[in-house]
Amino acid sequence: MKGFGVLGLLLPVLLGWASSHPVRGRKSFNKLLLISFDGFRWNYDQDVDTPNMDRLAQEGVKAKYLTPPFVTMTSPSHFTTISGRWIEDHGVIHNMMFNTETGWKYSFKTTQNKTEWWDNGVLPLWITAQRQGRKTASFHYPGGGAKYKGEAVQRSLVESYSHPDSNETEWRENIDIVMDWFTKEDFDFVTLYYGEPDNVGHKYGPETENRKVIIQQIDRTIGYLVEAIERHSLTERLNVIVTSDHGMTTVKKKPNVTEILLTNYVKFRDLVKFHIVDYGGFGMLLPKPGQTEALYQALKNAHPHLYVYKKEDFPERFHFAKHERVLPILLYADSGYNINAQLIIYFNKGDHGFDNVHMDMKTIFRAFGPDFKKNHLAEPFDSIHIYPLMCKLLGVTPEPHNGSLAVTQEMLVDSYDQQQGAEMQRAALQKTALGLGIVTGILAVLFVTIVTYTAIHRKKISTLWPTQRPSPSCFPSTAPGKAGPAYVS
Ligand SMILES: [Zn+2]
Repeated sequence: MKGFGVLGLLLPVLLGWASSHPVRGRKSFNKLLLISFDGFRWNYDQDVDTPNMDRLAQEGVKAKYLTPPFVTMTSPSHFTTISGRWIEDHGVIHNMMFNTETGWKYSFKTTQNKTEWWDNGVLPLWITAQRQGRKTASFHYPGGGAKYKGEAVQRSLVESYSHPDSNETEWRENIDIVMDWFTKEDFDFVTLYYGEPDNVGHKYGPETENRKVIIQQIDRTIGYLVEAIERHSLTERLNVIVTSDHGMTTVKKKPNVTEILLTNYVKFRDLVKFHIVDYGGFGMLLPKPGQTEALYQALKNAHPHLYVYKKEDFPERFHFAKHERVLPILLYADSGYNINAQLIIYFNKGDHGFDNVHMDMKTIFRAFGPDFKKNHLAEPFDSIHIYPLMCKLLGVTPEPHNGSLAVTQEMLVDSYDQQQGAEMQRAALQKTALGLGIVTGILAVLFVTIVTYTAIHRKKISTLWPTQRPSPSCFPSTAPGKAGPAYVS
């Protein structure tokens, strides 16, 4: 019968659709907001009144501190958080993009729209989550404006050149926008970035009144965030992670110390083809052809607070030097010592980029929301482990990464897995019921159609040949010698 032939074709399609299609209107996983306050040292809240951050510690999770990857810089560290990969794997090795052939260097803000700096084969969580059906957005987060394997983050706002770092009104407006994304547009995962307290830390130094003032502004903003979450009825549906990319230390200057000035030890014109120096306590040099050894020997014992390595000998613990973008000679300095090339032109009073073992480079991790424990003090951990935690919270299968969920899992409420298991079972049952419902409906329609068609057909025949009603012998028969004409096929 034709009808059942069509059904045979439709059935697998319908069942496949039902099992692969998410049930609209319900989600098994809560939403997630990742907020980064650039350059928030781990102990910035300890010498200033921060009632909202204190409240968060009671109502959620606080890690004693967080260790960022080396090099402790904004773009490399943020991309480790969003990808769960060491810097030598994801390839965003500096805040500055550079070209050793042309000598061009692009600033942090210029790189934000340059896909070629960010897209090195490692997928950030936005893209992975999107591919698994989640809606994701980036609000000023480093790397959010690039495309990855041709795919852009679904919603992305990139900081303009003139963007003010510390406008408190704008900070609140940004929170309101993000809340609307979650509630009105049903986004699942949003990353929100603020350029403070990094800016103030650089300009005035971390041990200043200015830094305390900006920390209080951040604390008020966190209070506003909690209030906005309640106002938007997101308290039971939104998990929030508040973190940062590195700490900050006071820059050491003469006459207190002997500053590091490389030109005191090497002639740049003779030995150096290209360099990334004058950018805090870390630098890289590309020697002129055949000059690697000479350059290395000239610098290796040049200054008691300067560490000089050939790329292949750079300490493994940094997980930094293996990427092809890393130049042949690497330099880093003791905490607070800037590395200067030919002039001391660096006026920052505070800086980062130093060895991530120094406490001044450590940063913060706070989290709250329905899936996090309350009043939980977590041991210090590496920021690389945030990625698998975020994947777990979003129900996203992670890409290969260097983190471990075992490190962060204890922050989640004990019933988390049971809850998720029950939610998923419920979702699976709903899908099955939906699929069966559709199939039953189609069967019913087909049944009615066939019955009606047969009835009409019979009626037509009886109208045409009222005395020649079709007899059973008119139907096709497989009995030998009894084959007759068939008018229903
Ligand atoms: Zn930063």
